[in-house]
Amino acid sequence: MNPAILVHGGCGPRSEADGDDQQSRAGALAAAKAGHAVLRGGGSAIDAVERACRVLEDDPAFNAGYGAVLNEDGVAELDASIMDGASLKAGAVAVVTTVKNPITAARRVMERTRHVLLVGAGAEAFAHEAGLPRIENQALVTEKARARFAAERLATHGTVGVVAVDVQGHVAAGTSTGGTSSKKRGRVGDSPLIGCGTYADDRLGAVSCTGVGEYIIRVTLARRVLELLDRGLSPQAAAEAGLAEVVRLGGEAGVILVTPQGELAWATSAERMSRAWVTRDNETGSAFWK
Ligand code: ASP
Repeated sequence: MNPAILVHGGCGPRSEADGDDQQSRAGALAAAKAGHAVLRGGGSAIDAVERACRVLEDDPAFNAGYGAVLNEDGVAELDASIMDGASLKAGAVAVVTTVKNPITAARRVMERTRHVLLVGAGAEAFAHEAGLPRIENQALVTEKARARFAAERLATHGTVGVVAVDVQGHVAAGTSTGGTSSKKRGRVGDSPLIGCGTYADDRLGAVSCTGVGEYIIRVTLARRVLELLDRGLSPQAAAEAGLAEVVRLGGEAGVILVTPQGELAWATSAERMSRAWVTRDNETGSAFWK
């Protein structure tokens, strides 16, 4: 079958967009194309998801990896998770401060430990032992993140996420974030929590979420969307119905979804959610506003 990939670069209100739409769309498109190149070459969905997430983590336009928002102490604390729909194996890291690409650390947790989630100093030590370079936290901090922290203490958020299906019909999902700005030290959002920010199951599909983690966690949004799909809703209706549960609690969120047949869907309650895709019919595109 033809592969497909959909990426998001976080959702949020118009006022936080700072005129970043061009940069954000271009970055999302570059990530989708990088992931699709892996899929086109016969690579697995999990490889494509990791590849595309790394492109987004390295792009300062997004709140993940380099350019992440800062916590209340001015430190970038990163969370990420990845899940393979074929095996239902998953890996995640949270509250890491010395790793440039947390999605790869998450994948190492999945493949090289008997655990799903490692946090803080233990996650960092593991990641470095697994070969990921140690970097100074300040090397993750961009001028924009510093200015936002110093001048405004803006309550902002954002995240990156990728869902993909490969030529064999296997799905995978990954999510990576700096979380919410000025968050409390040690705060963990939905992104590294399997079933909340990320879920993948070859029998149903793969989902990555963005938005205010505290609400997403309470409805286990990623898993919830797949449950709704399992009940017979279309991909689009499942994404929207899952989202409606977050909205009902007063939260804001966005989801992306791929099915094993290569259907793509997305939904957000926010004013913007940058996203980019390559469909199973090889159509490429990107968008920023809702
Ligand atoms: N979901 C992320 C978190 O709460 C932030 C976001 O996606 O905007 O950590």
